[in-house]
Order: sequence, then structure tokens, then C-alpha cells
Amino acid sequence: MNLILLGPPGCGKGTQAANLVDKFNYCQLSTGDILREAVANETATGKIVKDVLASGRLVEDELIIKIMEEKIIKKKSGPGLIFDGFPRTLIQANELERLLERNQMSLDLIIELEVDEGALLERIIKRAEESREKREDDNSDIVKRRLEVYNKETRPIVDFYSSRYTVNKVDGMKSIQEVSNIIEEMIENKQ
Ligand code: ADP
Repeated sequence: MNLILLGPPGCGKGTQAANLVDKFNYCQLSTGDILREAVANETATGKIVKDVLASGRLVEDELIIKIMEEKIIKKKSGPGLIFDGFPRTLIQANELERLLERNQMSLDLIIELEVDEGALLERIIKRAEESREKREDDNSDIVKRRLEVYNKETRPIVDFYSSRYTVNKVDGMKSIQEVSNIIEEMIENKQ
């Protein structure tokens, strides 16, 4: 089962992905986590992306695609992959199609978490206050930029997927538990 979680920053993709890791033993491929880890470990990639992450802009497609290709190849024989934060541009979405095809893999479920734009900023700021690990990009100016970047670069991929697959819309304003239940049911219906 390979699935994509779509939706703006703060919509709950990471929370839901973590639940699916617990429940179904899938592998969460979160580009945000991968990049933050690279920055923390001061790897070559980390040095390249540090300032981009802090600015709320997107990392170069080419670099993200290279990172994801390696991860996909490594993890493809497991029970499933959850794409969280990737793809984020039309170029990445097209490349993911080719990558999956080359590896004889399918895309089984696409979920879009829908959340009121006004609630997102509030959620992210709250998350930043409660979190132990400080995210440099969780302050209100940068969050606004991330939302702008989402609307411009990432929202168009919902149309891209709608023209090829079914995009399953889930109300991300419901409680975490309710959203988890809906997603789990979607997965169970696919198996
Ligand atoms: P959020 O969705 O909450 O904004 P993420 O943890 O998914 O946060 O991503 C944090 C940052 O990492 C992004 O603002 C961007 O700079 C970078 N990033 C993550 N995924 C991608 C991607 N697929 N393409 C380009 N940049 C990315």
C-alpha cells in the first residue's frame, strides 16, 4: 500500500502518518523530517538546505527527487510507503510517477486533508509552543510564507492527481482520532 497525504502545513499529515506507521507498520517518508535531520547532522545536504528551510521556501526539485529515489528503492519491499510532504510541486509529482513505474510500484491511495486556512496558522504556532524541538520555520512570518508557497506550488498537484486518480478528501478539522478512523477505513477498504 503506497499512499500520499496531501494538504497544507499544519493540516495534520505528520500526525496521521505516524498513526499509520503504528497501525500498519508502513514506512513514513517525510521530506521535512529527512531534511531537518540532514541539517541537524550537518551533512552535505543539510548544509545546502539549511537556509532554504529556515526561509519557508522549497528545496530544489532535483535534490528532493534524488533523496526520495534512494529512500523509495531502499523501502520498496516493505508493507507500504506514506509520502508526507512529497510531492510538493508538479515537477516532483511527475517524477514520482516515473519513479514508481520504473520500480513496478503502484500508487494506491491519495488523501487530501482539508483544513480552514485560518486555523492553520493558529495550529502551527500552538505546535511550536508545545514542541520540545524548536523548528526555525514555525514563526508567524515564515508560516505565512509556507502557506503562500503551498497555495502557489503545491495546491496545483491536487488537480494533477484528480485527473489521474481519485483524491479522497478528508475533513482535517475533525479530531485527530476521527481523522485517523476515516483514513484507516479507507485503507482497509483498499486491501
Ligand atoms: P510543513 O508541511 O509543515 O510546512 P515540512 O516538514 O513538510 O513542513 O517541510 C518543511 C520544509 O522542508 C519546507 O518548508 C521546505 O523548505 C522543505 N521541504 C519539505 N518537503 C519538500 C519538498 N517535497 N520539496 C521541496 N522542499 C521541501
